[in-house]
Amino acid sequence: MSKLALHGGKPVRGNYLPYGRQSVDQDDIDSVVKVLKSDYLTTGPTVREFEDMFARKVNAKYAVAFSNGTAALHAACYAAEIKFGDEVITTPITFAASANCALYVGAKPIFADIDLETYMIDPSSIERCITSSTKAIIPVDFTGEIPQMDKILEIARKNDLIVIQDAAHSLGSYWGDHPIGSISDMTMFSLHPVKTITSGEGGIIVTNSDAYYERLCQFRTHGITRNPEKLHMTNAPAWYYEQQFLGYNYRITDIQCALGISQLLKLEDFKLKRNELVSYYDSKFSENELIVTQASNTKSKACRHLYVIRLALDKLRVGRNEIFDALRAENIGVNVHYIPVYLHPYYKEIGYESVKCINAEKYYNSCITLPLFSGMTTQDAKDVVDAIEKVLNHYRR
Ligand SMILES: *Cc1c(COP(=O)(O)O)cnc(C)c1O
Repeated sequence: MSKLALHGGKPVRGNYLPYGRQSVDQDDIDSVVKVLKSDYLTTGPTVREFEDMFARKVNAKYAVAFSNGTAALHAACYAAEIKFGDEVITTPITFAASANCALYVGAKPIFADIDLETYMIDPSSIERCITSSTKAIIPVDFTGEIPQMDKILEIARKNDLIVIQDAAHSLGSYWGDHPIGSISDMTMFSLHPVKTITSGEGGIIVTNSDAYYERLCQFRTHGITRNPEKLHMTNAPAWYYEQQFLGYNYRITDIQCALGISQLLKLEDFKLKRNELVSYYDSKFSENELIVTQASNTKSKACRHLYVIRLALDKLRVGRNEIFDALRAENIGVNVHYIPVYLHPYYKEIGYESVKCINAEKYYNSCITLPLFSGMTTQDAKDVVDAIEKVLNHYRR
């Protein structure tokens, strides 16, 4: 058996393979340059063009683009009229933004536990978290897989809750025959460079609701409107506008949307590439007794953003952190998604000290994210598999 790079051996790869990376080609560059030479750099025709194209792609009536996905989630919570005193149920195994958005509007995030096979929010745990203050559920499509949306939507209907789906990972995924973006009250996508497509920074809310659409648009630009039908003043002069509530400057630029448009045109290619890599990993890891792979819900047809494995810690001599260091030394850019949100010092400080989601913590102690992005080559994926086998076999109990 060859010596681990961590112990001075030769690494599996000579250069570092990151866990995620954008794919930007000449079409993307041309698309952005065209806008740079046009009359509008921001809030011009390209924003609307991107939004219309995006809404069509995910089979939603409206799309509203924001400066980033976190701003988009904040806007969705505002549009849903989530307020001080309300509770919002989400998963702890997510990026902090899925819960922070509730705090932004004065509401309290409540963490339901996850299912240990799919790593996603467990509907029965959601039901146990519901109180008379519950206003919304924010399920997260972790890795691009989809949680049990039929059950979640049914729980929401029964309890009169709004569903804001955090689809930061799942652009291109389907739930049965329905594209993600078409099944929840509002759905958020992120366009950060590690996500499936990018606009540099960017986020989108899609919805079928006219009322949410109007509030989202107005929230994005300071709470200001120029719509004559909505103004408090009658016979307002043409230059007149009103700030009707406290919004933000969460606008996206035409420059970013130009990149978003050319990237969206390549979504199907990216999806094919990502899913090929996922199939390759699955084929290599499904028989390995040292590895547990993520299970899919029956109706989840994923376009995967992340590939996460769990280590069979009872069969290894060391924990996840040692395996992580050993893989990094082999030049494999592994990562950890995610620290349960309530374990962050800030959350402890504001009253989450005693929260404990048993499955989420079990998952957290054993998870490792492997590199996955559309520009990865077959050789890159082979290197990952070789490094995993080298390191895990070394530490096998
Ligand atoms: C990336 C991400 C976000 C936030 O998106 P930004 O565009 O980075 O603000 C929210 N939720 C999840 C699950 C994410 O991965």
